[in-house]
Amino acid sequence: MLTDALFQALFNISSPRILLSVHGRDFKIIYDNEAFRSASLNETFSIAGRSIWDLFNAGNCSSDNLVLLENTLIQSVELKQTLFLYDFDYQFAATGHGKTCWELEIIPIENENGQPPYIILTLKLQKKQKYTGIQQHPELLNIVSHIPIGLCILSGETMVLEIVNEKMLNLWDRNDSIQGLPLLEFMPELTDQVFPKLLQQVYTSGIAFSNRGAVVQLVVGGRLKSVYMDFSYTPLKNSDGVTDSILVMAEDVTDNIMGLQREQQLAERLTAINEELSFSNLELAENESRIRFLLNALPQQVWTADSAGLLDYVNQVVCDDFGFDVATVIGHGWQKFVHPDDLAESLEKWSNALETGCEYVTEFRLLFQDGNYRWFLSRAIPLIENGKLLLWIGTNTNIELQKSNEQRKDEFISIASHELKTPLTSIKAFNQLIQRKNQEHALDGFILKSAQNIARLERLIKDLLDVTKINAGKINYELEPFDFRKMLIETIENVQLTAPDHTIILENAVEISCLGDRYRLEQVVHNFLTNAVKYSPDGQKIIVKSTLEENDLIVSVQDFGIGIAEKDRKRLFERYYRVGDNAMRFEGLGLGLFISSEILRRHQGNFWIESEPGYGSTFFFRLPVG
Ligand code: ADP
Repeated sequence: MLTDALFQALFNISSPRILLSVHGRDFKIIYDNEAFRSASLNETFSIAGRSIWDLFNAGNCSSDNLVLLENTLIQSVELKQTLFLYDFDYQFAATGHGKTCWELEIIPIENENGQPPYIILTLKLQKKQKYTGIQQHPELLNIVSHIPIGLCILSGETMVLEIVNEKMLNLWDRNDSIQGLPLLEFMPELTDQVFPKLLQQVYTSGIAFSNRGAVVQLVVGGRLKSVYMDFSYTPLKNSDGVTDSILVMAEDVTDNIMGLQREQQLAERLTAINEELSFSNLELAENESRIRFLLNALPQQVWTADSAGLLDYVNQVVCDDFGFDVATVIGHGWQKFVHPDDLAESLEKWSNALETGCEYVTEFRLLFQDGNYRWFLSRAIPLIENGKLLLWIGTNTNIELQKSNEQRKDEFISIASHELKTPLTSIKAFNQLIQRKNQEHALDGFILKSAQNIARLERLIKDLLDVTKINAGKINYELEPFDFRKMLIETIENVQLTAPDHTIILENAVEISCLGDRYRLEQVVHNFLTNAVKYSPDGQKIIVKSTLEENDLIVSVQDFGIGIAEKDRKRLFERYYRVGDNAMRFEGLGLGLFISSEILRRHQGNFWIESEPGYGSTFFFRLPVG
């Protein structure tokens, strides 16, 4: 047994120390030292004789702690070894508030016969304190629980969850039963993810780590789900400056990221649309310039007007015709260019088209930059999209030629009727005279005149028939060799008979055999000669020549009559064409030269004219004879 002095020395220490007697699982306090008494504010009397469990129960020990203590005490006795118990929470009355973490030293002491043993139990303030700062301050815990971001403290290498706020539990989709469990136990889905490694790294290095928008795979609602988080790991150090736990702060930014991603997708889509648009614009511009090119390449006047009918585009042809630029033409509108006599009708038709949305068709004369009016057929159709009239697209087609052809046709019909009527009237008159006269000698003159008119009538009808045949491509040519000189002389003689006031002189006549349709070629010479007679009314000479130039036979018929102006010369070979002033002065249908040119063409020949108005004309034709 211990001597008094030794006993005093053993218990006279600053740490609370008690002596326990062991009776099975019951541990009775035999002695408590001064430090113990002063800590428990029990200085006047000892607690000797009481059960250790009375003591610690009063000190608000957790049941876990008490079980641990009981087991350690029993083990110490059984093993006969000094054992230590760390992290023992116990609150002495003197500390006022909050628990203190103690390191318990349990020293078993055997008595001499070995029974019953004793235990010296010393409570030493634990140096390596467990992280309990926040837990010791309920107001801080309160704040932590209200922090609007997820927050927890993971302690030790296994990352035991010490403290966690509501926000973090919600974020993890867990409840507070996970408190006190190691990380991978309450969140096994993290095992193969980077986060446990990062935590270990922070734990060992003591260097904080944070990341934004990290993707964490979490089991939420029973299913693995990707959650985007901003998080930080801050190492918490104990009084020795060693990291013993980690403060984890995390915030779910999934909505923001998704929003951002949506925004980004939207931005990408917008960029794509913009690119498409700018491409379309480019295409449109290209199309537009292509369309403009096409419109300008059209030989017609092309224009567009807006839905209200205002002119807003004209092509280059319009500008060239009128001698103004696009802006000026648009500024003026059509009214300035339409012939005053055609204006009222065209305006009425235009306003009618605008009202009804129906096609606009009219004919009017437009004033050209040379000061002349020309006939145009104007047509416009509305462009309608989704039931809305967008614009009018119009064309003005030059119909001057058709108009003048029409006019010439009308003139021709009136001339033809006149031409046919004249010899018929004469024939009729001579017939009546023949019936009345009974002297035979007097009849000869009437019969001759009548025959001349019949011949004239016959010629007119033949010409008309020839023209219709030419048009239908049905003139038959009988090609055979014939004596050209002979044909020329006979034709001159024939015409001379009908032209007593003229002298037809054959100046030169080559002797040559031609291959061709004699009758048709005679028709050409006959036409040249009768025209020479007809258009030199003052009765002068007519000179005929035929020469050979290489393999070509050239024939000319020269008169000294009215002549032909330059502008008319090119058109004489057109059907029905007659020089304006001559139409009423000279008989004829304007068919002879047209028929002649066709006959020469079929013989691979051609003809031309030299003329001076007032001095006469020379008609040439050329025939290949080789
Ligand atoms: P027409 O029956 O009118 O004479 P043509 O076809 O023979 O028909 O001639 C066409 C036109 O050419 C005539 O109307 C006339 O104006 C002109 N013409 C033809 N020959 C002569 C000529 N020798 N001198 C002047 N004008 C001529």
